[in-house]
Amino acid sequence: MRILILGGTTEARALAGALADRARFTVTLSLAGRTANPLPQPVPVRSGGFGGVDGLAQFLHDEKIDVLVDATHPYAAQISANAACAAAQADVPLIALSRAPWKKADGDQWLEVASVADAVAALGAVPRRVFLALGRKEIEPFATAPEHTYLVRSVDPVDPPLAVPHAIYLTARGPFTEADDRALLERHRIDVVVAKNSGGEASYGKIAAARTLHLPVILLRRPALPEVAAVETVEDVMAWLDHASASAAARGV
Ligand code: NAP
Repeated sequence: MRILILGGTTEARALAGALADRARFTVTLSLAGRTANPLPQPVPVRSGGFGGVDGLAQFLHDEKIDVLVDATHPYAAQISANAACAAAQADVPLIALSRAPWKKADGDQWLEVASVADAVAALGAVPRRVFLALGRKEIEPFATAPEHTYLVRSVDPVDPPLAVPHAIYLTARGPFTEADDRALLERHRIDVVVAKNSGGEASYGKIAAARTLHLPVILLRRPALPEVAAVETVEDVMAWLDHASASAAARGV
């Protein structure tokens, strides 16, 4: 069974690792190619866009892919929409692996907003010290609010830098613990966090740290995703693939 995993997430890497030693599965992992030095992966990797729905459908056909697994980030809505259309076009079964969003806990001060522009507006006019935990390609709208001081953490350097007078840049790759993020927020005297509701463990540290420090979090709402068969864990995808593989074997495929 030939499997294409659309990745870029911790879960995609874990799934690839879990499938790597299984003789019945031949796995390729696809990355968007956003990071300069991606982590090593346990299966062969292809990188960069496919060229929209048609390009992905063509790839599925050319590579004789039997199952497409969409294990992309919950905010990567375009590739997920493309995956749904391309899988239908190429008649390839699709399963989405999508982390559950974080749930608000006692003590959380969340303000949920629909867009980055709304997050900028929610900062208000009084200068604040803001931890921007967004992708480096998403932060440009904050240049319209130069009165704030920004702490920006990204995997690769922000280039060009944000056009504001006060910004501090950190390059780091998660996972980040609550203790590390609490120390970071305290060190930089942060008074508000801007983040996505990514779900999972690897980036929850800042949310837990904000709660402990009684800081507000401006949280971007998740984008709408296509309605496809979806599970929340790597184990669930494995079970789904085992079932699909057993059914194919029983049919002599
Ligand atoms: P996107 O808006 O859904 O995708 C834009 C285009 O990038 C797609 O149409 C596709 O190009 C290409 N692409 C995306 N993922 C791909 C993959 N796994 N393999 C091959 N091509 C891929 O996603 P995005 O621009 O990467 O990010 C949107 C949001 O997701 C941001 O909030 C970002 O921080 C977050 N995020 C993304 C990743 C990631 O690995 N992509 C990881 C962590 C967080 P074609 O149409 O040409 O095929």
